[in-house]
Amino acid sequence: MIRFDIITIFPEIFESYFKESLLKKAIDKGLIEINIHNLRDFTSDKHHVVDDKPFGGGIGMVMKIEPIFKAVKKIKKIYRQKNKKGKSLVVLFTPRAKKFSQKMAYNFSKIGQLILICGRYEGIDERVAKYIADKEVSIGDYVLMGGELPAMIVIETISRLIPGIIGKPQFLKERITSRKGFIEYPQYTRPEVFSPKKGVSWKAPKVLLGGNHKKVEEWRNKKGKIIEN
Ligand code: SAM
Repeated sequence: MIRFDIITIFPEIFESYFKESLLKKAIDKGLIEINIHNLRDFTSDKHHVVDDKPFGGGIGMVMKIEPIFKAVKKIKKIYRQKNKKGKSLVVLFTPRAKKFSQKMAYNFSKIGQLILICGRYEGIDERVAKYIADKEVSIGDYVLMGGELPAMIVIETISRLIPGIIGKPQFLKERITSRKGFIEYPQYTRPEVFSPKKGVSWKAPKVLLGGNHKKVEEWRNKKGKIIEN
């Protein structure tokens, strides 16, 4: 069981997402646990301020270190009380870091608690990266408004690797134990021929319809892409 703890100033963003689909089933089955923490609950001022002006000037606001420090400390403590030997990893989302990959997801899937810090505004006080986070993660070479979508992407990718959440266990085992990684190939289903308008037919490849498993595999290897574990 993996416990995900998300730190965000927009907790509502996650509500519908985690109430749908296989993630909801995974939560109900006790295979994953997702806790969403409002960063503003870790402030001590009347207005629950989580940001301030950048030192040295510049545009936008920067997220302060104190509430993040308090949040991470409390969330780790809660986990440790229940799981004395469980390992926690603090992930900070930033577009400046190494890109998230299947391999990273696989490594994360072995950790008991993942604490995901979602940034907003112009960024986060760099001391969070230096002293609080164990790992900085980017989900791609573009800049989003916040770390909430990256958190959903990371949670979903990791959850697919947990036995019992998707597909048949033997397929998952093959995928995650294969040294080479696994192959993602194009898929087709009925009808064999689809006609979007008169005189036009979009056909499924013949090789997939013939029942020759060797040929199907060759075709999939040719058309697919290896995703490294
Ligand atoms: N200049 C800031 C920086 O370098 O981190 C960008 C701030 S961005 C507007 C606000 C927040 O969105 C970031 O702190 C980060 O948490 C998240 N974010 C934006 N793009 C991201 C990406 N590609 N990968 C991961 N997180 C991202």
